[in-house]
Amino acid sequence: MSGKWVPFHAPSIGEEEIAAVSQVLRSGWLTSGSKVKEFESLFAEQVGAKHAVATNSGTAALHIALEALGVKEGDEVIVPTMTFAATAEVVHYLRATPVLVDCEPVTLNLDLNALDRAMTRRTKVIMPVHFGGHPCEMDRIQRLAESHHATVVEDAAHAFPACYRDRQVGHISEVTCFSFYATKPLTTGEGGMATTDNAERAEHMRCMTLHGITKDAWNRYTAAGSWFYEIQFPGYKYNMTDIAAAIGLVQLQRSGQFLQSRTQIAAMYNEAFADLAELQCPIAEPHVGHAWHLYIIQLQLNRLRISRNQFIEALKKEHVGASVHFIPLHLHPYYRKTFGYRPEDFPQATALFDRIVSLPIYPSMDEEDVAAVIRAVRTVVAQWRR
Ligand SMILES: *Cc1c(COP(=O)(O)O)cnc(C)c1O
Repeated sequence: MSGKWVPFHAPSIGEEEIAAVSQVLRSGWLTSGSKVKEFESLFAEQVGAKHAVATNSGTAALHIALEALGVKEGDEVIVPTMTFAATAEVVHYLRATPVLVDCEPVTLNLDLNALDRAMTRRTKVIMPVHFGGHPCEMDRIQRLAESHHATVVEDAAHAFPACYRDRQVGHISEVTCFSFYATKPLTTGEGGMATTDNAERAEHMRCMTLHGITKDAWNRYTAAGSWFYEIQFPGYKYNMTDIAAAIGLVQLQRSGQFLQSRTQIAAMYNEAFADLAELQCPIAEPHVGHAWHLYIIQLQLNRLRISRNQFIEALKKEHVGASVHFIPLHLHPYYRKTFGYRPEDFPQATALFDRIVSLPIYPSMDEEDVAAVIRAVRTVVAQWRR
């Protein structure tokens, strides 16, 4: 057993990011300016979208995307129950109703049959989450949306960079939203991005990130602009800072290398755990490019003498940090109380929740760290198998 602690996550921030931030701090321009513009345009290019709007969080990006589509009270927005709080909470911001759907057990992405059953005349938007970085079945989701006159907004918080068939996630649907939270595949500390091919939609979202004002601060305070501004909508305060964008620009350059290293770690785990009947490894379907934001094993509880929680505790004793993504929304007090959801309403997600363990997967892990995780998992399984 190695003595070194392998944390569940550690950000990949190097001297380049630190230098880029210092440069912004010395420049005299801290908030949304040239760095944000540059980050938006390079990010859009990278995912093949015409427009990108930077925000101060992924949640903000999801909010402005739904707002731009006119989601309002009485509308239904379909959200997988297997997701983080943000995906459904933005629906509440607009007083619309989140309709949860179950997931399928292999990729943990939303279940297409459950999605089909959940569609009604009120369905305004479908929000698939590319769970852990594995793209959803976008062709079928798109077809379902079209047949119900609904729009697709992708929650791609885990999916940069990822692709579905030969398309980059970021220009498949009407709007795609990314998160640059500290643990996400590309980080700016906190931050997000909404991408779209629709110029009008992009302009509206951009406007909403800064109080619904038609000229941003850059235009107002530089020689190119003037002091004049107009409030067109009751907007929000969701703009990204140049400090964050400077980090994002460096991370963007490193993102290919980051992906390669996460993919490599996933392959090493898959190979190392292939003979263990006590757990099921994640897969990447052949027609997708997996972002490998998360590496989730599913415990075969009938072959083990411990629970998932005990499994995580046992890993901790072996000096490995693990986590759970996520506690399905329908099991949370707010959703239970408000919608009367019961665990059995979403049988797949409920059953999966008891079995899933997220293992460390991030570029700053070295070979020794990966080996330590493999050793720890094998030790715990050997110790507790039935
Ligand atoms: C992280 C995350 C978000 C929100 O991102 P923030 O940048 O933290 O606001 C949204 N959806 C999912 C699935 C996430 O994991």
